[in-house]
Amino acid sequence: QESKLRQVQKMEAVGQLTGGIAHDFNNMLAVVLGGLELAKRQIDGDPAAARRHIDNAADGANRAAALTRQLLAFSREEALRSEPLEPVALVKGMSDLLDRTLGDGIKVTVNAANDAAWLVRSDRHQLENAVLNLAVNARDAMNGRGQLTITAAAETLAEGAVGTCRAGEYVALSVTDTGCGMTPELLERVFEPFFTTKPAGKGTGLGLSQVFAFVRQAEGEVGLRSEVGRGTTVTIYLPRYADGTVAEPHSENAAIDLPD
Ligand code: ADP
Repeated sequence: QESKLRQVQKMEAVGQLTGGIAHDFNNMLAVVLGGLELAKRQIDGDPAAARRHIDNAADGANRAAALTRQLLAFSREEALRSEPLEPVALVKGMSDLLDRTLGDGIKVTVNAANDAAWLVRSDRHQLENAVLNLAVNARDAMNGRGQLTITAAAETLAEGAVGTCRAGEYVALSVTDTGCGMTPELLERVFEPFFTTKPAGKGTGLGLSQVFAFVRQAEGEVGLRSEVGRGTTVTIYLPRYADGTVAEPHSENAAIDLPD
């Protein structure tokens, strides 16, 4: 009985998902086709106007590309390549990318608390993507001005301390902003695919649901703390990967060559 109900709910979710994607994607294609059509008409008479229409078309195409990228990250088309990683080092390696993405108005600080050199086992690309998603949300919440703090800390969680986490050791990677914050009602909905408060074309509503799917797949958890008008902290808890921390002295690669 229960599994049947779950099946129906799943199908509903899939229906909503594909309907939403098709709708968004169609809108983006309409921008591309409309732009090209207008450009074609004006290319002889008004080349400058034609160029603007082509830029618009390119914009629409880029947004469609971003959407499919996000969808690919969702489906497991992109093979996960898990390896032992040090989250602080990973985030520090992203500093140029973060500066470029966030713009001049946002100051980025990376902190490592206590034993943050703990390793996690994760896909580098997906973890970077998750941090980038959180940073972009922080930027939007701060309207391009404010302080973004990324902190890595070693934490021992009790069972159920965050979501449905199991008891154990985790690396907690927090992204804190000084932005608009969220009401409790909003907090309840942010993990829903396609839930967004951003204007059409600016948000897909897939960022946090993607982060959530990735972290849960890694048997981690996501914590949210937010206060309206003060800011938000999103914390990704990833299970500590302890087996690979002691490398054989004569083999530099011992820590990253372990089989799955
Ligand atoms: P998108 O960013 O495309 O809207 P997300 O799933 O990443 O999709 O976020 C969903 C919604 O959650 C956002 O539209 C916004 O309302 C809210 N949100 C996410 N992160 C933050 C944040 N750091 N501060 C305030 N609101 C946020």
